[in-house]
Amino acid sequence: MEAPGTPRPPGLLAGGGSQGPANPAPEPKQVPELIRLKRDGSRLSEADIRGFVRAVVDGSAQAVQIGAMLMAIRLRGMDLEETTALTRALAESGQRLEWPEAWQGQLVDKHSTGGVGDKVSLVLAPALAACGCKVPMISGRGLGHTGGTLDKLESIPGFTVIQSPEQMQELLEQVGCCIVSQSEKLVPADGILYAARDVTATVDSLPLVTASILSKKAVEGLMALVVDVKFGGAAIFPSEVQARELAKTLVEVGAGLGLRVAAALTSMDTPLGRSVGHTLEVEEALLCMDGAGPPDLRDLVTRLGGALLWLSGRAQSQEEGAARVAAVLDDGSARDRFQRMLAAQGVDEDLARGLCSGTPARRRKLLPRAREQEELRAAADGERGRGRGPPPARPSRGPARLGDPRRLPKDPNLPCPHLPEPSRSPGIPARCGDPVPLRAQLPAAAPRPAQRPLPAGTVELIRALPLALVLHELGAGRSHAGEPLRPAVGAELLVGVGQRLRRGELAPAPVRPPPAPAASPRAPPLTPPARPPAGTPWLRVHRDGPALSDGQRRALQGALVLSGRAPFAAPSPFAELVLPPPARAPGEPQQ
Ligand code: URA
Repeated sequence: MEAPGTPRPPGLLAGGGSQGPANPAPEPKQVPELIRLKRDGSRLSEADIRGFVRAVVDGSAQAVQIGAMLMAIRLRGMDLEETTALTRALAESGQRLEWPEAWQGQLVDKHSTGGVGDKVSLVLAPALAACGCKVPMISGRGLGHTGGTLDKLESIPGFTVIQSPEQMQELLEQVGCCIVSQSEKLVPADGILYAARDVTATVDSLPLVTASILSKKAVEGLMALVVDVKFGGAAIFPSEVQARELAKTLVEVGAGLGLRVAAALTSMDTPLGRSVGHTLEVEEALLCMDGAGPPDLRDLVTRLGGALLWLSGRAQSQEEGAARVAAVLDDGSARDRFQRMLAAQGVDEDLARGLCSGTPARRRKLLPRAREQEELRAAADGERGRGRGPPPARPSRGPARLGDPRRLPKDPNLPCPHLPEPSRSPGIPARCGDPVPLRAQLPAAAPRPAQRPLPAGTVELIRALPLALVLHELGAGRSHAGEPLRPAVGAELLVGVGQRLRRGELAPAPVRPPPAPAASPRAPPLTPPARPPAGTPWLRVHRDGPALSDGQRRALQGALVLSGRAPFAAPSPFAELVLPPPARAPGEPQQ
């Protein structure tokens, strides 16, 4: 039997010795044969990969075959040549965008491997446009537990993510940026594979992530691209070593395609900013464009933007670029571009204006709102994490709907000494746990009703992963391709990393939900707690469906990690920038 990984000469499988003319064109292989080859560890040739992508786009590959091939690639991997061939084949499944000659040095873009609370693209595209760039951003939907830029924007009534190449050109002319989806014309193969990966536990594949991201960017005709490669507990690749490997692959494959790619390694242990969920993240993005908002979000926006302005020769240094991005956030010009982009992409002009000029309270009224809000409290110093309560929920034995294997904490309050790759963020304990299918295991993975008091005081970490998984279950994510989302489901972090929580704080007034939207005429009654619970409120969950289950509540409480440390300034999520090979001196202006 052939050893896995042994490539077969083309044509050998088709039926033995060749009787025909010398070097006849090899017969294209059938999809089952391509799957079998990859399943058994063989390299796929460029022709094989093109044949598979063609079958995906023309509909001759069945959904089960696509899922099987994705899983084979996920398990067997692809080398750099295969990854480059897959990227090229995906990119060439649609149209390449053509721009006026005069835009040559201006075309830049940013993409992320996916995070929790990551609304950077919403801010950065208009900020870069305000800095004189053209940003034809082809973005993605939620993938696994991570949120998608397109889903966030679609939570704004009227926003239209499908735009033709001609409409994109008009948007770039008039606004300087657009944020659109792949479509039948733009990288259609990635659209199909992306949706299939989301529901087949094949998100965390280095070649699939690389090809998916770079195929979208390869058609944009860019001068420079920065990819934000996340690592940490809620990243697609939690280990920093794997994330660096992905960063290098993105840079190398990009170079092979003539694309100038830099990859920023940034940590994704704690949600970015204070809001997670589609409409909540739009609100927070607007705050950032007011020159305000959470410092970690602004930090990442300015650093990634600074890197892009430098790489494209529009700033002499990354710092100078970052300062220019900060300036367009502070003077309102990024927000002005955002308003124009909303209106140009289908949002009613009054709504776009109201969102961009209104107060945070007004913005909340203009966007879809959740019917219920519920606050969770941190246990006070020395108090037991949870009193006597119902028995722990049993893990569901049903199929894992998300099924993306990750490590979940066995006890999120305890550092675990024997873990593979600790997060690099300073002061963050490594996580304890085994790979588990996430959704199936969520209730079991949360801490049991506390046997021990939570350590007192300072917020060491707010784990993004359990938060994202619970919100996914509440309707913020998809379990089936094409499933509609609940845009207003989300959570607000009421405390920040490094903050000291006060002891035994009394409950503030109960939160009154905003007036009910038309679909739910009855506002839930306010029921003040019989006895004010001690402990600082740390999380406000916005939900549209049934109350949180005990398992979900425990998973959320397990996301808050307190320590006895003195208060500290939260570290920047930014770790390092992996640069492309120097085509010219960085900062040197474009000819
Ligand atoms: N973004 C993408 O476009 N694709 C991925 O696979 C991950 C993030």
